[in-house]
Amino acid sequence: METLIPIINRLQEVFLTVGAEIIQLPQIVVVGSQSSGKSSVLESLVGRDFLPRGSGIVTRRPLVLQLVNVPPLEERRRQHSGNGDKHNSQNNYPGIKAEEWGTFLHCKNQIFTDFCEIRKEIEEETDRSTNNKGISPEPINLKIYSPNVLSLTLVDLPGITKVPVGDQPEDIETQVQEMILSYISNPNSLILCVSPANSDLATSDALKLAREVDPDGRRTLLVVSKLDLMDAGTDALEVLLGRIIPVRLGIIGVVNRSQHDLNTQKSVADSCKDEQVFLQRYYPSLASRCGSRYLARTLSRLLMHHIRDCLPELKTRVTVLTAQYQSRLNSYGQPVEDQSATLLQIVTKFATDYCNTIEGTARHIQTSELCGGARICYIFHETFGRTLQSIDPLGGLNELDVLTAIRNATGPRPALFVPEVSFELLVKKQIKRLEEPSLRCVELVHEELQRIIQHCSAYSTQELLRFPKLHDSIVEVVTSLLRKRLPITNEMVHNLVAIELAYINTKHPDFTDAAQVSASVNSQQAEAGDAGKRWKNEKMPSEDKGPVPGFGSPTKAINLLDTAVPVSRKLSTREQRDCEVIQRLIKCYFLIVRKSIQDSVPKTVMHFLVNFVKEHLQSELVGQLYKQPLLQELLIESQETAQQRTEVAQMLEALKKASNIISEIRETQLW
Ligand code: GDP
Ligand code: MG
Repeated sequence: METLIPIINRLQEVFLTVGAEIIQLPQIVVVGSQSSGKSSVLESLVGRDFLPRGSGIVTRRPLVLQLVNVPPLEERRRQHSGNGDKHNSQNNYPGIKAEEWGTFLHCKNQIFTDFCEIRKEIEEETDRSTNNKGISPEPINLKIYSPNVLSLTLVDLPGITKVPVGDQPEDIETQVQEMILSYISNPNSLILCVSPANSDLATSDALKLAREVDPDGRRTLLVVSKLDLMDAGTDALEVLLGRIIPVRLGIIGVVNRSQHDLNTQKSVADSCKDEQVFLQRYYPSLASRCGSRYLARTLSRLLMHHIRDCLPELKTRVTVLTAQYQSRLNSYGQPVEDQSATLLQIVTKFATDYCNTIEGTARHIQTSELCGGARICYIFHETFGRTLQSIDPLGGLNELDVLTAIRNATGPRPALFVPEVSFELLVKKQIKRLEEPSLRCVELVHEELQRIIQHCSAYSTQELLRFPKLHDSIVEVVTSLLRKRLPITNEMVHNLVAIELAYINTKHPDFTDAAQVSASVNSQQAEAGDAGKRWKNEKMPSEDKGPVPGFGSPTKAINLLDTAVPVSRKLSTREQRDCEVIQRLIKCYFLIVRKSIQDSVPKTVMHFLVNFVKEHLQSELVGQLYKQPLLQELLIESQETAQQRTEVAQMLEALKKASNIISEIRETQLW
């Protein structure tokens, strides 16, 4: 397998980079009946003694054996003293002074350099969770690090057995079968069926199980062990030629060490030599296609095929990942080189995004809700406009209020005409009611401008997320600019109403007509006595209450005004007429003012708040933030971003390397 090692090592690098789960080297799982020689076959593949072997049930828990290829000790020392490059540190193992060593998952920190100790630990660990020949599906995980192994995983399993011995349960056969099936049903496992030559292959339970999960025989290899133990006068030629049972991937005969060899501590190397001699002597025609060495070569070839099959997918994967990581890297932006330029650029971009959102020319147009300028428009015309429209011009004014105002304005003299003073007094009271919704309009727009800050930092200015400190400062500057403009705008809106209150212009072109009509009606009524009814019927039919019998006299009305007046009190004709004239005038004048306020408040808000902020935003931001001593602090990247960028950059680097390795392997065409 040595020729494979460098290639696999480089590929392993690729696997590590793109995620090991994407393409794995197959697990090699040995399956066979008890004492068929499974552990022995595995050992000859690894080239070291370390597995417990022997007669009876020896392997009683799955052993997941992960082989890890490491550089030779010399090289590791050199790398370490040269301080090597960081990325390879996982291959350095600086603390370990052995060429080969092993570790167990169940005692991670213990390093085994003596392989006899490893065997002892496997035996002890087996006994720890099983008693008296019992079996357990709980695997023992062993890692062997060596310069002489391929980085792949081998699984040694308990042998198939029929009759329970010791404390073994009645269903031992099914238990073992299930355990085996759970490993070999993994499509990424290569099934190494081990069958001894001195028993009938047709009864091989291992092959039967393998067929269940791999009916086409795409990943099943048959190893015929114990060729040396056949009865005199028999040989395995027919079996090895596949005439008894054909096996697609091949049938390989081997001779492993006998119990006697084990007892006399024959080395793996010697056993290999003797195996060759044996094969040459008894199976000369097949010698080149049998033996442990040939088995290892076959496995290499199968691994190569596997890799070759995986390469296109791996290549695609690397390409896709490279593109993904490249775009992720781009999204993090370049590391800051020129701080002033970066700050100016971000601030300008924010200001532009902010203005664009107001103008409606932003790139990130929201579809789920109104925002920015559209929402301001909505506030002006829907929220504010409707509120104003819904104000009743005479709301909060009942006839008695009007009457009281008229009387108060006349003073001690009985008046012939409705006094103008009372009109002014009352209409001002109504106009004042426009102030509150107008100020509310300012507040709403202010809130929306505040919201746009959030919108811009979330959608438009990706760069901002890199610099949390700068982000906060920008929000602060804009917020305080908005806050500074709020009292000024409020003052102006307040003044708009105050201006209206300052002078009641009864000569307003839209008002004079109405005033004249009212005045003439008034004088006519004053002369004609009951003209009020006629006027009312003509002009305000909807408000016609009709003549009411039993009008009170003016004297009586005064008396009533002095006391608490019942709402249901009937007014005199004169009172009713005066009231109606005043109400009509109030309504007319109020509508004129309302129209004007409805028009001027949005203009004021635009001028003093929205446009002002738009125009001064950038210079305000620059003025407050573009200060040499601040730059350093503002442009501290969020740690997350900085770290992510480094990680992504490293991944990209590794992916590029991986891509190179893949194309090299394709070029060398090792198969
Ligand atoms: P397992 O139970 O399938 O793991 O089998 P082991 O590898 O533990 O081997 C069982 C016994 O058979 C051990 O004593 C081995 O030494 C012996 N053995 C295995 N393979 C061979 C072989 O090819 N020839 C001989 N003579 N003995 C073998
Ligand atoms: Mg075994």
